[in-house]
Amino acid sequence: SASVSDDYSVQKTNDDATESKYAAVKLNYWYDNFIDHFAHGVHKRDPEISCGYWARVATVTSFAQQFIEMNNSKCQIINLGAGFDTLFWRLKENNFKVHRFIEIDFSSVTAKKIRHIRKPQRDPKLFSFFDGEPTESQHSDLHAGDYHLIGADLRQLAELEQKLNSTEIDYKLPTLVISECVLIYMSTESSSALLKFFSSKFNSIAFLNYEQVNTADKFGEVMLSNLKSRGIMLPGLSVCDNIETQKQRFVENGFEKVNAWTVMEIYRNHFNPEEVKRVEDIERLDEKELLTQLLEHYSFVYAFKGSSGNSDLSSIK
Ligand code: SAM
Repeated sequence: SASVSDDYSVQKTNDDATESKYAAVKLNYWYDNFIDHFAHGVHKRDPEISCGYWARVATVTSFAQQFIEMNNSKCQIINLGAGFDTLFWRLKENNFKVHRFIEIDFSSVTAKKIRHIRKPQRDPKLFSFFDGEPTESQHSDLHAGDYHLIGADLRQLAELEQKLNSTEIDYKLPTLVISECVLIYMSTESSSALLKFFSSKFNSIAFLNYEQVNTADKFGEVMLSNLKSRGIMLPGLSVCDNIETQKQRFVENGFEKVNAWTVMEIYRNHFNPEEVKRVEDIERLDEKELLTQLLEHYSFVYAFKGSSGNSDLSSIK
């Protein structure tokens, strides 16, 4: 239909995210010892785009680390639509451990990720970070002690639940769910059902969501038409296009406390100014207008239920 992208176009958005992250890592926007397993060949990005990715990755990483510290590692992380994300390895490299780290994406994406993880020729070996012997099933699922990669369509909750159970997830442990540019590709009916699924299955849950917002202006129009030309629609925007409506849907779907920011607010108020200067100097970004525009069109929501979350965003470490 005209308002929903085909699954293939949505899966391809992972290539774009991976290439953008790779390009930024190669310019030292942030450090990632593992991304070489998942990408090669730099596809140049504008400096504003790389700054935006830096803010996105730094924020997600910081929330994950704070969550693990707060729960003394007696917790779990579920990364929805994880694509080729390297968060598990970056955390583990810095001694941030959890009971279960579960990544979910379409089977076609997880099957490719498994092949990259198994690639023998690169160091450090990705499977050396798992605390259990890796076993594969259906070519799309990998189970390896603390790490689990499972193929599932997030719009199919019965399948999702069955797959989650196969990871020996503990529904009683505090759990952080991350979705980085994922819900926006689903209808709001599907994403609401997904939020409800998580808030009702777990006693203590936190949810970090990152995606486009405030698109009802000129800049937003250009963003959306660029995506559309690649066959990508953002049906999630129909209901959640501003900070208030973003918060609202988490409240409506079982979360007790909800905070939300544009990425610009986080960038301006919660990052270490020296880090911001370092990042802006990498490609001599002195004209800030475009960056500001870009960061005002993305948001983070941090919602939680039970005692697992922390409502304050003091600083991004
Ligand atoms: N989260 C990763 C990141 O930020 O680098 C990847 C982001 S990419 C823009 C969106 C990902 O969500 C893709 O890998 C896509 O396959 C996945 N995705 C979208 N809809 C999904 C669904 N219904 N079920 C499973 N995965 C989905």
